[in-house]
Amino acid sequence: MQILIVEDDRPLAQGLKIALRKQGYAVNHVESGKDCLHVVATEDPGIVVLDLGLPDIDGLKVLREIRAKNDSLPVILLTARDSTGDKVAGLDCGADDYLAKPFEMTEFLARLRVLERRLGTSKTNLISLGDVDLDTAAQTVTFQKQHVEFSRREYMLLKSLMENAGKVLTRTTLESKLYSWGEEVCSNALEVHIHYLRKKLGTDFIKTVRGVGYKVDSI
Ligand code: CA
Repeated sequence: MQILIVEDDRPLAQGLKIALRKQGYAVNHVESGKDCLHVVATEDPGIVVLDLGLPDIDGLKVLREIRAKNDSLPVILLTARDSTGDKVAGLDCGADDYLAKPFEMTEFLARLRVLERRLGTSKTNLISLGDVDLDTAAQTVTFQKQHVEFSRREYMLLKSLMENAGKVLTRTTLESKLYSWGEEVCSNALEVHIHYLRKKLGTDFIKTVRGVGYKVDSI
């Protein structure tokens, strides 16, 4: 899952980046409404975290412009203005959720998980496919009822594949979910993660779709 943070308060953005990366998300950050609209138009962020008080364009206007082109991209608003009027205006403009600053990081992460569930195939924190159970809240995985340890990226890769069970995810899509902008990515990094996942979950859980990408079956 790639998250785009749109926030001109650098210390806050930095704190969010650190917390989100620790959870395994790929995180990109811009500081203006103009840059946000550019990224939304040219890339494929999974979720946008949008500050209402931006230096160039009002956050609500940015949200309306996003919604004019894309009504399914999840957007969480952040605002210093803790007023019911702003909250209602934000939700009316098509925000999926709303957090008033200051907020607890744990609450922010919980709200993100709710949005992720809405995006994926799973309606609960638990995604079960074959012998594999993945709990997105606890970030744990069991294989044949035994707990299995994964690196942060292995976990995110497995989560992306399981949330999109039945669909083929291309290499480019998977890489954009795993890596933030500017991160050094070895050309075979994805294959290496898949190799380790298969070592832990058996060779046939993740299928290779030659020349395209990878998938897991939906049943
Ligand atoms: Ca701001």
